[in-house]
Amino acid sequence: MARKIILVKPRGLCAGVERALKILDLTVEKSEGSVYCRHAIVHNEKVVEEFSQKGVIFVEDLNQVPNGSVVVFSAHGSSPELFKLAKKKNLRVVDAVCPLVMKVHEEAKRFRANNYLIVYLGHKNHPEALGVLGEVPGKSVLISSLAEAKKLKISGKAVLLTQTTLGLEETKEIVDYLTAKFPNLELPAGKDICFSTTNRQLAVKELAKHCDLILVVGSKNSSNSNRLREVAGIEAYLVDGPEDLKEDWFKNKNIVGITAGASVPEKLVRELIDGVKGRFGGEEEELEVIKENIKFRL
Ligand code: SF4
Repeated sequence: MARKIILVKPRGLCAGVERALKILDLTVEKSEGSVYCRHAIVHNEKVVEEFSQKGVIFVEDLNQVPNGSVVVFSAHGSSPELFKLAKKKNLRVVDAVCPLVMKVHEEAKRFRANNYLIVYLGHKNHPEALGVLGEVPGKSVLISSLAEAKKLKISGKAVLLTQTTLGLEETKEIVDYLTAKFPNLELPAGKDICFSTTNRQLAVKELAKHCDLILVVGSKNSSNSNRLREVAGIEAYLVDGPEDLKEDWFKNKNIVGITAGASVPEKLVRELIDGVKGRFGGEEEELEVIKENIKFRL
């Protein structure tokens, strides 16, 4: 049987990442001096490498940025402390935060102003979590697993917010547990896990029904790409590009599904497809599970 390669839709670049990349591109185009970027603009090694080649200087610590410089803040969002430091250093900040992450910042501030404890479900030390929790210092608790949720104690008003890129099922299990244990725990209107995370996870699950191997294009530090590999439910690997492919994976595998994390431009998906075809052969087809037409304005 000839090998088949199924590309699922939606996959890859989401509206928030597309917007962040355009912001950084435009900033480079319009700035005369060096452009700095606080943290990886999005969690994709090849994207960061490409911007580095265009001259963007990536830093984790704003103190490394010379006073008065132009600095872009990443799509994951940044804490108020970083904005304060930037002001002190007279930096010209261009914020590339995704509007959906910003919505969670606003929720955290609004509930905190009404004396709620913010229970935040997310990954420790992920920049998105650090950014949101930075809005409510000392007034929040971070939960990363069901085991941690089971140790939670709440007295008084509390609200549950989540990182935008979590796994749907894992999150549901924790949310169900917490809302059953604490009936007064509030959930804000609308969900924090964003539409593109949701769509890509539902799409990869559908894809898995038609394949015997799934490849997820994405970097190891990308939360949403890792979740795609986890929720696939069949043998699945996370790869940055064709250089990561392993011969063993393809033994007795006739139908290979391909998806990509929200921080992966289509050209990187194309490189992987060409790599798979070149080394292991296969005919391409597409499986559209959900239509996605959302764009964010700059
Ligand atoms: Fe925004 Fe969702 Fe994309 Fe993150 S994954 S940048 S929250 S649209």
